[in-house]
Amino acid sequence: MPRRKKSQKAAPPLRRVLWTLGAGGVVFAFLVGLWWGSPAPKLPAPKPKVQAKQSAPAPAVKAQPTVKEAKPPLPVPPVKPAEPSLPLVAIIIDDMGHSLDPARRLAALGLPLTFSILPYAAQAKAVARLAQDKGLEVMLHLPMEPKGYPGQNPGQGVLLCGMSQEKLLEVLREDLKRVPHAVGVNNHMGSRFSLRPDLLRPVLLELKSRGLFYLDSFTSADSQGLASARGLGLRTGRRDVFLDHEASREAIDFQMRRLLQLARERGKAVAIGHPRPLTMQALEEWAPQLRTQVRLVGVLKVLESPSPPGQAHQPGQSPPTQQGVKAGQ
Ligand SMILES: [Zn+2]
Repeated sequence: MPRRKKSQKAAPPLRRVLWTLGAGGVVFAFLVGLWWGSPAPKLPAPKPKVQAKQSAPAPAVKAQPTVKEAKPPLPVPPVKPAEPSLPLVAIIIDDMGHSLDPARRLAALGLPLTFSILPYAAQAKAVARLAQDKGLEVMLHLPMEPKGYPGQNPGQGVLLCGMSQEKLLEVLREDLKRVPHAVGVNNHMGSRFSLRPDLLRPVLLELKSRGLFYLDSFTSADSQGLASARGLGLRTGRRDVFLDHEASREAIDFQMRRLLQLARERGKAVAIGHPRPLTMQALEEWAPQLRTQVRLVGVLKVLESPSPPGQAHQPGQSPPTQQGVKAGQ
């Protein structure tokens, strides 16, 4: 019995050893298999890389526009060499907005005129839209107090010398709202208001904050508009010629010749006219010269163009003329 017990007791350990060895071998083989198999799960990892490479064309497509963006500068330069040699001229038509008829007639000329629109004129917004549609520059024609006020009335939306700074800004902001698409401002009348740098300052700062330029209509020989705007860092200039302060074709033709002459001498010039029958007739007849002898552009372009070498002139720096003062009001 004890032998049996011994043999019975000894046998199980052998079996157990063999069994555990066998089982251990299986487990080992399984683990080895897993270990060797583990590269297999690693294979999908390269696959995403391949997929990433396949999805790479998306960034490549994004890169293409930058290649396209680089293209435009190439073809442009050869087209324009003749144009800079022509003097720049801008013609502003003041007092626009009362009616659509003159706006349509002037737009039909196909000349890049600038329309300066009175904020409370009945058709102000319609004229601004028409100008915008025709690619013409729009300005706010900002009423300012003249020396003859109140006998001489600049109309609604006027800036008066007796107004507080807050009131001036309130009136200006409402005026600007009424003339959409305006890229700049010039004064309507203003022979008294424009002499006051203290009043001009808040007005000009507001224009500057909106990125608008200021063109001094130069309705007084002592106007501080240009100097103030320049001092505050606005894009600015001054009217050189009034085309039609004297309502005769002879006088308008004289001023037209003068405008072209000034532009040739200085490289650029700014004129102001009005939507009157004689002025519109003159513009129609002068259109061929305005197309060929000068480069007619919007006011902004004249203000932004540098003065020709050797000439410190800015448009409007000509000495005050009686014409300007008389027409200025
Ligand atoms: Zn005016």
